[in-house]
Amino acid sequence: MFDKLKCKVGIHAWGPWHYGAEGACAQTRVCERCQTEGTQTVHIWGSWQYRAPDSCIQVRRCERCQAGEERKAAHQWDQWEYAMGDTCEKLRECQRCHETESRQGDHQFGPWAYAAPDSCEQLRRCERCAEQQTQPAGHVWDVWAYEGPTSCNQLHFCRRCGARELRAPSEIEHDWGAWAPVDGDPPTQEQRACLRCHIQETRTASPNQMV
Ligand SMILES: [Zn+2]
Ligand SMILES: [Zn+2]
Ligand SMILES: [Zn+2]
Ligand SMILES: [Zn+2]
Ligand SMILES: [Zn+2]
Ligand SMILES: [Zn+2]
Repeated sequence: MFDKLKCKVGIHAWGPWHYGAEGACAQTRVCERCQTEGTQTVHIWGSWQYRAPDSCIQVRRCERCQAGEERKAAHQWDQWEYAMGDTCEKLRECQRCHETESRQGDHQFGPWAYAAPDSCEQLRRCERCAEQQTQPAGHVWDVWAYEGPTSCNQLHFCRRCGARELRAPSEIEHDWGAWAPVDGDPPTQEQRACLRCHIQETRTASPNQMV
């Protein structure tokens, strides 16, 4: 009674596996208590063999039932080579099945050169596929010069491409005249002006400067 309960929860008293038929791989076993039957299939695989000399598919066969299985084996790639013609594409071929694969190869750039005599852009060209790359080169700045006789702004120009940069004066770069009191009684403010650009600045006079 207790043993029958074991069978109900799946703990059987299995007998040995037996093949069902000659030349077949299905096996059965029987529980010695409740006669339940269990099945499994166990093949006896031979080794993997290429299907053909020019194939990367491998097959193996069961030595008992002759069932077959296939798998894709790894390709036996040659080295990457540049494709023919003016291209940087690279190809490789499988020595067995002659399948090919391609990828973008490295460009073979020539040296950087200025794009034009009056340009600060440089370019280089791939000697295989003529692909171009550009990069900005540094400007060749001339010295700073005042924008005009009555301006404190400074300009400079690139000697190659003529690019221009403007620099506004900072507080200390003006050519300041002396502080002078502004009319008033008593004067409480004083003023100064830049001798070049005539910009004016006003400040509150401090008592000890007014003596
Ligand atoms: Zn059983
Ligand atoms: Zn088999
Ligand atoms: Zn292959
Ligand atoms: Zn290229
Ligand atoms: Zn430039
Ligand atoms: Zn100024």
